[in-house]
Amino acid sequence: MDSFLDLIFIPKCLFCLRDGRFICELCVSKMVTMEYSECLVCGKFSEDGTTHLSCRNDVVPSSFVSVFKYCSLVRSVIRRAKYARREFLGLRIISEAAAEIVKEEFSQMTKYVLIPVPISDERLRTRGFNQVTTITKALSKKTSMVVNTRILLRNVDSRPQYTNNRLDRYDNVKGAFSIRKGHENLVTHGKFLLADDICTSGATLLEASKTLYENGASDVKCFALSRKV
Ligand SMILES: [Zn+2]
Ligand SMILES: [Zn+2]
Repeated sequence: MDSFLDLIFIPKCLFCLRDGRFICELCVSKMVTMEYSECLVCGKFSEDGTTHLSCRNDVVPSSFVSVFKYCSLVRSVIRRAKYARREFLGLRIISEAAAEIVKEEFSQMTKYVLIPVPISDERLRTRGFNQVTTITKALSKKTSMVVNTRILLRNVDSRPQYTNNRLDRYDNVKGAFSIRKGHENLVTHGKFLLADDICTSGATLLEASKTLYENGASDVKCFALSRKV
């Protein structure tokens, strides 16, 4: 299926299989949106997700947007999409719903390049896909941003485990990213929107932002389809 519109003609809800629309109202009601924006650095409320002045330094993103709470339907779709390509349809629907919600906000970001948080080349070979590209595709479709899946490289795959110890979380992803050889000139003075499927502690997005800034990026913003709260 190539068009999102094609889905409308499916007589059953894709998620609960009840008769009705491609995604029924009950399932839509299970997609809980975030009630407030926050600063990615400290996790506290911030208007529009702008990083607080007091939390800023040269390597942190300038803002952060997350759309859904990581719970219920959104959680199960994201979990399943990690393991099987055939589960992508659900992820695509959720991603397109999220893109619809943020498209106004992102409409001015014409010079930004969308980067899906990568998995390592090795994992990409064994798994065959990076599910986050489904999210960046949806965002790209609703905005004028282009996607680049090559610039940012993941050296280590370990995902940060949630722990109350801030230092542990950051240690886990330290040095996890680098810029792919030959792509350095694309980063210098570039503006980027980093996207991930789920943001837990924020450590992964912060580390990826740092890598881009240290290689000359002029601005980095972050987007998460879902937020574990
Ligand atoms: Zn349903
Ligand atoms: Zn802050």
